[in-house]
Amino acid sequence: MVDLKSQYDKMQHEIDDAVLNVIRSTAYINGPEVKSFQAELEQYLHVKHVIPCANGTDALQIAMMALGLKPGDEVITASFTYVATAEVIALLGLTPVLVDVYPDTFDINVEAIEKAITPKTKAIVPVHLFGQCADMERILKLAKQHNLYVIEDTAQAIGAEYTFSDGTVKKAGTMGDIGCTSFFPSKNLGCYGDGGAMYTNNEDLAKKMRMIANHGQSVQYVHDSIGVNSRLDSIQAAILRIKLRRLDDYAAARNKAAAYYDKAFANHPKIKTPARAKNTTHVFHQYTLQLKDVDRAALREFLASKDIPSMIYYPIPLHMQKAYTDPRYKEGDFPVTEKLCASVISLPMHTELDEEQLKYITDAVLEFCR
Ligand SMILES: *Cc1c(COP(=O)(O)O)cnc(C)c1O
Repeated sequence: MVDLKSQYDKMQHEIDDAVLNVIRSTAYINGPEVKSFQAELEQYLHVKHVIPCANGTDALQIAMMALGLKPGDEVITASFTYVATAEVIALLGLTPVLVDVYPDTFDINVEAIEKAITPKTKAIVPVHLFGQCADMERILKLAKQHNLYVIEDTAQAIGAEYTFSDGTVKKAGTMGDIGCTSFFPSKNLGCYGDGGAMYTNNEDLAKKMRMIANHGQSVQYVHDSIGVNSRLDSIQAAILRIKLRRLDDYAAARNKAAAYYDKAFANHPKIKTPARAKNTTHVFHQYTLQLKDVDRAALREFLASKDIPSMIYYPIPLHMQKAYTDPRYKEGDFPVTEKLCASVISLPMHTELDEEQLKYITDAVLEFCR
């Protein structure tokens, strides 16, 4: 699905030097590379504070801890997402409240959020799924009306930009109270291990998140709150600094591949290409088709026989997962999510796809879906 080897080959010397420098410096944790990366990411995102941590799941957890959410508080998120979003809500004893998504853009349905708000609701977690922003202007308005926090899950959308109706442009993750991202290798800005970060423009929240990520410690060996141990290591930060400089080029390469796919599958009766949401750029973390009257499993097997990988993001809706079964929800409650889980397929999407590969992939899909 991704070609990290070819991407690495193009910057091998730069990466190797940076990694070796960290090893020789012995500043493995919280070294200068972490501080530099943090500052460079703040500048790239136009956000006041970036707090690096160990992974995207931790970022979401630390964000919710910093907001002081308490057991019993309800947190609204999308039913069509990666499990991490709901996992941390449940882990903290908060109540995940799921809502459906829009059938075209896969993003969280704002009318459904509004209907799900109760006196216990404390926060909304929009997921910028597959690389484009959720409808943030309406979500932020709703949050303001009901006095709710907004935590953006931007693990799949680093670099995407949202334009508000007054013309203001903001980067994904910098619009709500806190944005959370992941630097997992296959993410758009991926390191060579695990990594993540929180973003915020709020000084107080930034301080709290830094403290929670560091064992709830304000001064060394002084613990003001119960925290966790979650840090980005210096080797990963050194790699991320190099890749951050290329992030916009990477997004352009992904968009080029997406445009090729779009054109190849345009107006196909059995294949629906991914819709672009209004007011947002798309960084194509995934390129996801919806199939109609196609045996998806057989298509995947056919593609595999030609060495073409494909994935189903996501095969089972959250409310149908054993771990998240909940008497409030049953099959049929989130019809769009359920339909998507049964009909989507994601094709290879990365920064190194060339026309020859794209032709090979699209020809194979079209041959099967004749
Ligand atoms: C990857 C991902 C996460 C979790 O990130 P990790 O670094 O793997 O913990 C959270 N939410 C979404 C939507 C993701 O895609």
